[in-house]
Amino acid sequence: MHEIHAREVLKELRLIGAGRVLIQSPEGLRREAEALGGFLEENGIEVMLHGEVNYGACDPADREAKSLGCDALIHLGHSYMKLHLEVPTIFVPAFAEVEVVPALEKNLEEIKKLGKRIALVTTAQHIHQLEKARVFLENNGFEVLIGRGDSRVSWPGQVLGCNFSSARVGGEGVLFIGAGYFHPLGVAIATKKPTLAVNPYSGDATWMKGEAERLIRKRWAQIAKAMDAESFGVVTSTKKGQLRLSEARRIVRLLREHGKRAELLVMNHISYPALEGFSFDAYVVVACPRVPIDDYENWRKPVLTPREAEILLGLREDYEFDEILGVERTEDEPLGVALHGYRNSL
Ligand code: SF4
Repeated sequence: MHEIHAREVLKELRLIGAGRVLIQSPEGLRREAEALGGFLEENGIEVMLHGEVNYGACDPADREAKSLGCDALIHLGHSYMKLHLEVPTIFVPAFAEVEVVPALEKNLEEIKKLGKRIALVTTAQHIHQLEKARVFLENNGFEVLIGRGDSRVSWPGQVLGCNFSSARVGGEGVLFIGAGYFHPLGVAIATKKPTLAVNPYSGDATWMKGEAERLIRKRWAQIAKAMDAESFGVVTSTKKGQLRLSEARRIVRLLREHGKRAELLVMNHISYPALEGFSFDAYVVVACPRVPIDDYENWRKPVLTPREAEILLGLREDYEFDEILGVERTEDEPLGVALHGYRNSL
Protein backbone atom coordinates (compact mmCIF):
# COMPACT_ATOMS: atom_id res chain seq x y z
CA MET A 1 0.00 0.00 0.00
CA HIS A 2 1.09 3.54 -0.69
CA GLU A 3 0.28 6.72 1.10
CA ILE A 4 -1.14 9.63 -0.96
CA HIS A 5 -1.73 12.90 0.85
CA ALA A 6 -5.03 13.82 -0.83
CA ARG A 7 -5.70 16.85 1.39
CA GLU A 8 -2.27 18.32 0.60
CA VAL A 9 -2.99 17.88 -3.11
CA LEU A 10 -6.34 19.64 -2.70
CA LYS A 11 -4.62 22.48 -0.84
CA GLU A 12 -2.11 22.92 -3.68
CA LEU A 13 -4.94 22.87 -6.26
CA ARG A 14 -6.83 25.54 -4.33
CA LEU A 15 -3.69 27.70 -4.33
CA ILE A 16 -3.53 27.42 -8.13
CA GLY A 17 -7.30 27.94 -8.41
CA ALA A 18 -7.60 24.76 -10.47
CA GLY A 19 -11.09 23.70 -11.59
CA ARG A 20 -10.08 20.84 -13.91
CA VAL A 21 -7.13 18.48 -13.51
CA LEU A 22 -5.55 15.51 -15.21
CA ILE A 23 -4.25 12.72 -12.94
CA GLN A 24 -1.36 10.67 -14.32
CA SER A 25 -0.36 7.45 -12.57
CA PRO A 26 1.90 4.45 -13.06
CA GLU A 27 0.15 1.09 -13.45
CA GLY A 28 0.73 0.19 -9.80
CA LEU A 29 -1.15 3.26 -8.58
CA ARG A 30 -4.32 3.15 -10.68
CA ARG A 31 -6.57 2.53 -7.64
CA GLU A 32 -4.93 5.37 -5.73
CA ALA A 33 -5.49 7.62 -8.78
CA GLU A 34 -9.18 6.66 -8.79
CA ALA A 35 -9.49 7.29 -5.04
CA LEU A 36 -7.76 10.66 -5.31
CA GLY A 37 -9.96 11.53 -8.30
CA GLY A 38 -13.09 10.67 -6.30
CA PHE A 39 -11.93 12.81 -3.39
CA LEU A 40 -11.19 15.79 -5.64
CA GLU A 41 -14.53 15.45 -7.47
CA GLU A 42 -16.31 15.51 -4.08
CA ASN A 43 -14.50 18.77 -3.47
CA GLY A 44 -15.72 20.37 -6.69
CA ILE A 45 -12.79 19.71 -9.03
CA GLU A 46 -13.35 18.12 -12.44
CA VAL A 47 -10.99 15.17 -12.83
CA MET A 48 -9.70 13.25 -15.84
CA LEU A 49 -7.65 10.09 -15.34
CA HIS A 50 -4.76 9.57 -17.75
CA GLY A 51 -4.77 5.98 -18.99
CA GLU A 52 -1.36 5.72 -20.68
CA VAL A 53 1.44 3.70 -19.13
CA ASN A 54 3.85 5.83 -17.14
CA TYR A 55 7.26 4.78 -15.81
CA GLY A 56 8.74 7.93 -14.37
CA ALA A 57 8.76 11.65 -13.71
CA CYS A 58 10.70 11.84 -16.99
CA ASP A 59 7.37 11.42 -18.77
CA PRO A 60 4.90 14.01 -17.44
CA ALA A 61 1.59 14.38 -19.32
CA ASP A 62 1.71 18.18 -19.14
CA ARG A 63 1.20 18.64 -22.91
CA GLU A 64 -1.90 16.44 -22.79
CA ALA A 65 -3.20 18.31 -19.72
CA LYS A 66 -2.78 21.60 -21.58
CA SER A 67 -4.54 20.35 -24.69
CA LEU A 68 -7.44 19.09 -22.54
CA GLY A 69 -7.83 22.53 -20.98
CA CYS A 70 -6.74 21.32 -17.53
CA ASP A 71 -5.47 23.90 -15.07
CA ALA A 72 -3.00 21.44 -13.54
CA LEU A 73 -1.46 18.01 -13.85
CA ILE A 74 -1.18 15.70 -10.86
CA HIS A 75 1.66 13.27 -11.45
CA LEU A 76 1.41 10.35 -9.04
CA GLY A 77 4.11 7.98 -7.90
CA HIS A 78 7.29 9.84 -8.80
CA SER A 79 9.26 12.66 -7.30
CA TYR A 80 9.85 16.04 -8.87
CA MET A 81 12.20 16.22 -11.84
CA LYS A 82 13.42 19.57 -13.11
CA LEU A 83 11.80 19.89 -16.57
CA HIS A 84 10.16 22.66 -18.54
CA LEU A 85 6.45 21.93 -17.98
CA GLU A 86 3.51 23.52 -19.74
CA VAL A 87 0.97 23.51 -16.88
CA PRO A 88 1.40 23.69 -13.10
CA THR A 89 2.26 20.14 -12.08
CA ILE A 90 1.98 18.59 -8.64
CA PHE A 91 4.33 15.67 -8.23
CA VAL A 92 2.95 13.33 -5.60
CA PRO A 93 5.46 10.65 -4.74
CA ALA A 94 3.98 7.46 -3.28
CA PHE A 95 5.75 6.33 -0.17
CA ALA A 96 5.76 2.67 0.72
CA GLU A 97 4.19 1.92 4.08
CA VAL A 98 6.88 -0.54 5.05
CA GLU A 99 9.42 0.00 7.82
CA VAL A 100 13.04 -0.29 6.70
CA VAL A 101 14.80 -0.63 10.06
CA PRO A 102 13.68 -4.25 10.78
CA ALA A 103 15.32 -5.39 7.50
CA LEU A 104 18.49 -3.49 8.41
CA GLU A 105 18.48 -5.04 11.88
CA LYS A 106 18.10 -8.51 10.42
CA ASN A 107 21.02 -8.00 8.04
CA LEU A 108 23.37 -6.08 10.31
CA GLU A 109 26.18 -8.66 10.12
CA GLU A 110 26.02 -8.60 6.30
CA ILE A 111 25.99 -4.77 6.25
CA LYS A 112 29.15 -4.74 8.41
CA LYS A 113 30.98 -6.45 5.52
CA LEU A 114 30.63 -3.19 3.55
CA GLY A 115 33.03 -1.48 5.98
CA LYS A 116 32.61 1.26 8.57
CA ARG A 117 32.15 4.19 6.17
CA ILE A 118 29.22 3.52 3.88
CA ALA A 119 27.13 5.39 1.34
CA LEU A 120 23.38 5.05 1.86
CA VAL A 121 20.92 5.28 -1.05
CA THR A 122 17.31 4.42 -1.77
CA THR A 123 14.48 5.10 -4.22
CA ALA A 124 11.77 7.75 -3.82
CA GLN A 125 9.43 5.09 -2.36
CA HIS A 126 11.51 4.71 0.80
CA ILE A 127 13.15 8.14 0.99
CA HIS A 128 10.92 9.17 3.93
CA GLN A 129 12.64 6.44 5.98
CA LEU A 130 16.21 7.35 5.05
CA GLU A 131 16.73 9.40 8.19
CA LYS A 132 15.54 6.51 10.40
CA ALA A 133 17.91 4.20 8.54
CA ARG A 134 20.81 6.63 8.99
CA VAL A 135 20.18 6.94 12.74
CA PHE A 136 19.95 3.16 13.12
CA LEU A 137 23.21 2.62 11.23
CA GLU A 138 25.06 5.36 13.13
CA ASN A 139 23.87 3.87 16.42
CA ASN A 140 25.47 0.66 15.24
CA GLY A 141 28.86 2.25 14.65
CA PHE A 142 28.75 3.16 10.95
CA GLU A 143 29.75 6.46 9.42
CA VAL A 144 26.92 7.08 6.97
CA LEU A 145 27.42 9.18 3.83
CA ILE A 146 24.37 10.51 2.00
CA GLY A 147 25.13 12.18 -1.33
CA ARG A 148 23.34 15.35 -2.44
CA GLY A 149 22.82 14.00 -5.96
CA ASP A 150 22.44 16.27 -8.98
CA SER A 151 19.43 18.26 -10.19
CA ARG A 152 17.66 15.20 -11.63
CA VAL A 153 16.78 13.85 -8.19
CA SER A 154 14.62 15.46 -5.51
CA TRP A 155 16.30 14.35 -2.31
CA PRO A 156 19.76 13.56 -0.99
CA GLY A 157 20.35 9.82 -1.12
CA GLN A 158 17.76 9.23 -3.87
CA VAL A 159 18.68 7.16 -6.92
CA LEU A 160 16.75 6.69 -10.16
CA GLY A 161 17.21 3.90 -12.70
CA CYS A 162 19.06 6.44 -14.83
CA ASN A 163 20.87 8.48 -12.19
CA PHE A 164 23.21 7.34 -9.42
CA SER A 165 24.78 10.73 -8.68
CA SER A 166 23.88 10.54 -4.97
CA ALA A 167 25.76 7.23 -4.63
CA ARG A 168 29.07 8.82 -5.70
CA VAL A 169 29.90 10.14 -2.27
CA GLY A 170 32.87 8.05 -1.22
CA GLY A 171 32.84 5.33 1.43
CA GLU A 172 33.99 1.74 1.30
CA GLY A 173 30.72 0.33 0.01
CA VAL A 174 27.13 1.26 -0.80
CA LEU A 175 24.00 0.17 1.05
CA PHE A 176 20.87 0.30 -1.11
CA ILE A 177 17.43 0.03 0.50
CA GLY A 178 14.59 -1.03 -1.78
CA ALA A 179 13.05 -3.76 -3.89
CA GLY A 180 14.09 -4.93 -7.36
CA TYR A 181 17.53 -5.30 -8.91
CA PHE A 182 17.72 -2.57 -11.51
CA HIS A 183 18.62 0.30 -9.16
CA PRO A 184 21.22 -1.53 -7.01
CA LEU A 185 22.75 -3.05 -10.16
CA GLY A 186 23.14 0.43 -11.59
CA VAL A 187 24.62 1.63 -8.28
CA ALA A 188 27.15 -1.24 -8.24
CA ILE A 189 28.22 -0.68 -11.85
CA ALA A 190 28.23 3.13 -11.64
CA THR A 191 30.23 3.33 -8.38
CA LYS A 192 32.34 0.16 -8.89
CA LYS A 193 31.97 -0.36 -5.13
CA PRO A 194 30.70 -3.35 -3.16
CA THR A 195 26.93 -2.88 -3.07
CA LEU A 196 24.47 -4.60 -0.77
CA ALA A 197 20.74 -4.34 -1.50
CA VAL A 198 18.42 -4.75 1.49
CA ASN A 199 14.80 -5.38 0.57
CA PRO A 200 12.46 -3.98 3.26
CA TYR A 201 9.52 -6.10 2.04
CA SER A 202 11.17 -9.53 2.09
CA GLY A 203 13.87 -8.68 4.64
CA ASP A 204 16.47 -10.23 2.28
CA ALA A 205 19.90 -8.84 1.54
CA THR A 206 21.63 -9.43 -1.82
CA TRP A 207 25.21 -8.65 -2.84
CA MET A 208 25.21 -7.09 -6.28
CA LYS A 209 28.65 -8.24 -7.43
CA GLY A 210 27.46 -11.49 -9.04
CA GLU A 211 24.38 -9.81 -10.54
CA ALA A 212 26.47 -6.95 -11.93
CA GLU A 213 28.97 -9.37 -13.49
CA ARG A 214 26.11 -11.34 -15.08
CA LEU A 215 24.57 -8.17 -16.48
CA ILE A 216 27.89 -6.93 -17.87
CA ARG A 217 28.48 -10.32 -19.56
CA LYS A 218 25.05 -10.08 -21.21
CA ARG A 219 25.79 -6.55 -22.36
CA TRP A 220 29.14 -7.58 -23.86
CA ALA A 221 27.21 -10.30 -25.73
CA GLN A 222 24.89 -7.60 -27.16
CA ILE A 223 27.91 -5.54 -28.22
CA ALA A 224 29.43 -8.64 -29.90
CA LYS A 225 26.14 -9.29 -31.74
CA ALA A 226 26.22 -5.74 -33.09
CA MET A 227 29.83 -6.00 -34.33
CA ASP A 228 28.87 -6.90 -37.90
CA ALA A 229 26.04 -4.39 -38.13
CA GLU A 230 26.43 -1.94 -41.00
CA SER A 231 23.36 0.19 -40.31
CA PHE A 232 22.09 1.62 -37.03
CA GLY A 233 18.89 3.27 -35.90
CA VAL A 234 19.74 5.72 -33.12
CA VAL A 235 16.52 6.11 -31.15
CA THR A 236 15.60 8.89 -28.77
CA SER A 237 12.29 9.61 -27.07
CA THR A 238 10.06 12.67 -27.09
CA LYS A 239 9.31 12.09 -23.39
CA LYS A 240 10.58 15.31 -21.82
CA GLY A 241 13.01 13.74 -19.38
CA GLN A 242 14.33 11.20 -21.89
CA LEU A 243 14.92 13.41 -24.91
CA ARG A 244 18.69 13.38 -25.33
CA LEU A 245 18.87 14.90 -28.77
CA SER A 246 22.44 16.19 -28.70
CA GLU A 247 23.71 12.85 -27.35
CA ALA A 248 21.74 11.00 -30.05
CA ARG A 249 23.20 13.28 -32.74
CA ARG A 250 26.68 12.67 -31.30
CA ILE A 251 26.18 8.89 -31.57
CA VAL A 252 24.90 9.23 -35.16
CA ARG A 253 28.00 11.28 -36.00
CA LEU A 254 30.37 8.78 -34.36
CA LEU A 255 28.79 5.84 -36.18
CA ARG A 256 29.01 7.66 -39.52
CA GLU A 257 32.62 8.65 -38.86
CA HIS A 258 33.32 4.93 -38.43
CA GLY A 259 31.79 4.05 -41.80
CA LYS A 260 28.35 2.92 -40.59
CA ARG A 261 25.00 4.04 -41.90
CA ALA A 262 23.17 5.73 -39.05
CA GLU A 263 19.83 7.51 -38.86
CA LEU A 264 18.16 9.33 -36.02
CA LEU A 265 14.78 7.90 -35.00
CA VAL A 266 12.34 9.67 -32.71
CA MET A 267 9.57 7.88 -30.83
CA ASN A 268 7.53 8.47 -27.73
CA HIS A 269 7.26 5.01 -26.19
CA ILE A 270 10.26 3.02 -27.45
CA SER A 271 9.54 -0.64 -28.14
CA TYR A 272 10.82 -3.00 -30.81
CA PRO A 273 7.51 -4.01 -32.51
CA ALA A 274 6.99 -0.42 -33.71
CA LEU A 275 10.43 -0.57 -35.40
CA GLU A 276 9.94 -3.91 -37.20
CA GLY A 277 9.47 -2.30 -40.64
CA PHE A 278 12.88 -0.57 -40.63
CA SER A 279 15.90 -2.25 -42.20
CA PHE A 280 18.53 -1.35 -39.57
CA ASP A 281 20.88 -4.13 -38.44
CA ALA A 282 21.10 -2.78 -34.87
CA TYR A 283 19.84 0.01 -32.63
CA VAL A 284 21.27 2.41 -30.08
CA VAL A 285 18.71 3.71 -27.58
CA VAL A 286 19.58 7.20 -26.34
CA ALA A 287 16.67 7.63 -23.95
CA CYS A 288 15.79 5.67 -20.80
CA PRO A 289 18.65 3.22 -20.08
CA ARG A 290 16.13 0.65 -18.91
CA VAL A 291 14.89 0.13 -22.48
CA PRO A 292 18.01 -1.53 -23.91
CA ILE A 293 19.05 -3.15 -20.61
CA ASP A 294 15.78 -4.47 -19.18
CA ASP A 295 13.91 -5.07 -22.42
CA TYR A 296 16.58 -6.31 -24.88
CA GLU A 297 15.17 -9.86 -25.00
CA ASN A 298 12.10 -8.47 -26.77
CA TRP A 299 14.24 -6.95 -29.54
CA ARG A 300 15.00 -9.07 -32.59
CA LYS A 301 18.02 -6.86 -33.39
CA PRO A 302 20.93 -5.99 -31.09
CA VAL A 303 20.17 -2.93 -28.99
CA LEU A 304 22.86 -0.89 -27.24
CA THR A 305 23.23 2.08 -24.91
CA PRO A 306 25.35 5.07 -26.09
CA ARG A 307 28.31 3.95 -23.98
CA GLU A 308 28.08 0.44 -25.41
CA ALA A 309 28.10 1.96 -28.91
CA GLU A 310 31.36 3.68 -27.99
CA ILE A 311 32.81 0.32 -26.92
CA LEU A 312 31.67 -1.17 -30.23
CA LEU A 313 33.51 1.58 -32.11
CA GLY A 314 36.67 1.06 -30.06
CA LEU A 315 36.33 4.44 -28.32
CA ARG A 316 35.93 3.07 -24.80
CA GLU A 317 37.28 -0.01 -23.04
CA ASP A 318 35.60 -0.27 -19.66
CA TYR A 319 31.94 -1.08 -19.29
CA GLU A 320 29.92 1.79 -17.85
CA PHE A 321 26.23 2.06 -17.03
CA ASP A 322 24.24 4.54 -19.11
CA GLU A 323 23.09 7.48 -16.99
CA ILE A 324 21.13 10.66 -17.61
CA LEU A 325 22.82 13.25 -15.47
CA GLY A 326 21.42 16.58 -14.32
CA VAL A 327 23.46 19.58 -13.35
CA GLU A 328 25.46 19.78 -10.17
CA ARG A 329 23.70 21.49 -7.29
CA THR A 330 25.10 24.79 -6.15
CA GLU A 331 26.00 25.11 -2.47
CA ASP A 332 23.15 27.56 -1.74
CA GLU A 333 20.47 25.57 -3.61
CA PRO A 334 17.88 24.17 -1.17
CA LEU A 335 18.13 20.41 -0.82
CA GLY A 336 15.09 18.22 -1.09
CA VAL A 337 11.44 19.00 -1.70
CA ALA A 338 8.45 18.54 0.59
CA LEU A 339 7.75 14.88 1.27
CA HIS A 340 4.04 15.19 0.44
CA GLY A 341 4.75 16.52 -3.03
CA TYR A 342 6.03 19.39 -5.08
CA ARG A 343 4.36 21.95 -7.32
CA ASN A 344 6.40 23.56 -10.07
CA SER A 345 5.88 27.24 -10.69
CA LEU A 346 5.37 28.42 -14.24
S1 SF4 B 1 14.54 7.75 -17.76
FE1 SF4 B 1 13.96 5.65 -17.20
S2 SF4 B 1 15.08 5.24 -15.33
FE2 SF4 B 1 15.10 7.45 -15.62
S3 SF4 B 1 13.33 8.22 -14.46
FE3 SF4 B 1 12.65 7.83 -16.56
S4 SF4 B 1 11.80 5.75 -16.54
FE4 SF4 B 1 13.08 5.98 -14.69
